[in-house]
Amino acid sequence: MKLRKVTAASAAVLALALAATACGSDNDKDSGSSPSGGSKKITIGIKFDQPGIGQKTPQGYAGFDVDVATYVAKKLGYSANQIQWKESKSADRETMLQRGDVDFIAASYSITPEREKSVDFAGPYLLAHQDVLVRADDNSIKSPSDLNSKKLCSVTGSTSAQNVKDKLAPKANLQQYPTYSACLTGLQNGAIDALTTDDSILAGYAAQSQFKGKFKLGGFKMTNENYGIGVKKGSDLKAKINTALEDMVSDGSWKAAVEKNFGPANYKNEPAPKIGDVKS
Ligand code: GLU
Repeated sequence: MKLRKVTAASAAVLALALAATACGSDNDKDSGSSPSGGSKKITIGIKFDQPGIGQKTPQGYAGFDVDVATYVAKKLGYSANQIQWKESKSADRETMLQRGDVDFIAASYSITPEREKSVDFAGPYLLAHQDVLVRADDNSIKSPSDLNSKKLCSVTGSTSAQNVKDKLAPKANLQQYPTYSACLTGLQNGAIDALTTDDSILAGYAAQSQFKGKFKLGGFKMTNENYGIGVKKGSDLKAKINTALEDMVSDGSWKAAVEKNFGPANYKNEPAPKIGDVKS
């Protein structure tokens, strides 16, 4: 395209028009520099409501899982604008992989023997721990066993809810909601006493400007949550994603993503796990 003869003003108009086209619905048909040469997309499952981990914002998608998934997708041959993000709620993850709704899932997704019966995992790429979030003025929950007399909220299909029922506080009045953000509303208005899930997620909520000073974490480290990238059982993506995760750690991108996403919440993360090293 020859721009030399157009005036500065019309060039600006033209630039805006081109930018608008690039953001338009034609996006889906964009062809990238794919190995096969054609247009292609990769569909990735993330959380939409977990600040610092996976969040849909008016500006786009953000969080540690988003950065890990974007890095992995690049190594698989997909640029950022070839990624289609899909919400993968905790209870939907295995089904979404089995049905082929997504190519892979990076959504605070803990590797467990139960889940490994139906899907495969690359990783782990982060080690988190189950904890509780309570109102800042509540001093009645000093240890996990105090939860037994409380109204506790967690999410259907999560390890957090299962662990409460199996071992952490079997006598607690457990409410299971579809998302953690739904629990958060209950915690705020007093409908529930504590929200339990991974400390990595809770730290992100506690640091939100609208919740500043309202909530605090227990700091209990009740479990090990080894975040993996879920793929369809038997998929050859697992080995490729493992290689990408190793590259992400060795070239410093993992550390940069940790600092960018967990720094604002002051979340003290564990060192990068070794691929295949799932802590029980
Ligand atoms: N990491 C836990 C899990 O995979 C809790 C967080 C979540 O539900 O995504 O179930």
